[in-house]
Amino acid sequence: MAGTRTGEFRQLISPFLQAKIAELEEAYGPDSRQVLALTRQYVTSPLETVVQDNARRRHYESEVSILFDGRPVVGVERLYRRTMLIEPTTVCAAHCRWCLRGQYPIRTMKEDDITHATRYIGSAELRDDVNEVLITGGDPLMSLPLLGLTLGELARNAPNVRIVRIGSRVPFQDPARINDAMLEMFGRYPDFRFELGCNVNHPLEFWPESIDSLKRLQDIGFRIYNQHPLLKGVNDDTETLTELYELLRWHGIEAHYLFHAIPMRGMAHHRTSLRRGLELVRRLTAGGVFSGRAKPHYAVLSDIGKIVIYDGVIRDHREEDNCLLLRSGFRLKERRAWNPSWQVPESLVIDNDGFMCTWYVDGTDDPIPADAA
Ligand code: SF4
Repeated sequence: MAGTRTGEFRQLISPFLQAKIAELEEAYGPDSRQVLALTRQYVTSPLETVVQDNARRRHYESEVSILFDGRPVVGVERLYRRTMLIEPTTVCAAHCRWCLRGQYPIRTMKEDDITHATRYIGSAELRDDVNEVLITGGDPLMSLPLLGLTLGELARNAPNVRIVRIGSRVPFQDPARINDAMLEMFGRYPDFRFELGCNVNHPLEFWPESIDSLKRLQDIGFRIYNQHPLLKGVNDDTETLTELYELLRWHGIEAHYLFHAIPMRGMAHHRTSLRRGLELVRRLTAGGVFSGRAKPHYAVLSDIGKIVIYDGVIRDHREEDNCLLLRSGFRLKERRAWNPSWQVPESLVIDNDGFMCTWYVDGTDDPIPADAA
């Protein structure tokens, strides 16, 4: 599960990934960069116990805390006008060490919570604004019954929802789960536009089984996009990113966000500086290295939501705690209109034009200590 009951995000590596790591060890040697590209994503490191004062257990808070029909709505998040998030389960096939939900409490929604949440999403107060649901977690493809229930209840209670996005790493962690029964279930909902947000970080992860599972989804109409973190020692170089984005394009996967790894507890060793990521993206997008059709948006997940990093977004640098002031395109009054329970974070600054800015903890470009790699 992405999450923890004890404060320790335990190591979990699917049998599929274990076999792939063993194959890479056999082919390239246990200390090769190919093996490290996977083990740095999945194997617990002693560096996770190194905790900075300003690292946090959660990224932004966007849970909707509201009573609907006299009962709390649970498992639902909202930051933006058109999209609601629903999180049926926190179970995953494997635990990514840099997961932003690694420190969240473990939770599975009860069936009547899912029904209640979908009725809220289809209610008169939301139906003119919301037309899209992102089913996330954990990994929604880990529980076919819960996913089927969520889709069925959305279809029944929230006809305003036309786009259903699913966030999943199953194609790269346990692709056999994308089987006939799952495809048949999606086929029952021809009125939804289905999109799958996958997360592939390195060209090595394009295994035949993974490509095949994505192709099966594409064949029934899924649009697939990739959003992934920039990870020190995994994909923070131009060659790896170039190959990754070329493979994405080749397999019909849209390059969506490249995220700066977020300042979660015990994650500092995965994080480059924001400027290092900007340099890499500039090289990728302006260097003629590959087609502009395959370029990602470089963004951070800040206290106030996603901020795409363009020139002029970095407004200030606070040296004493290595924080950057980032300007977003969000206004506070809109955020409160869409999620009245949204709590203003301490890092918030409103600029002269009324836009929200936030102090964001940067990473460093120090090398990963060799004995912990
Ligand atoms: S599969 Fe997704 S939710 Fe689960 S641990 Fe990995 S990044 Fe986190």
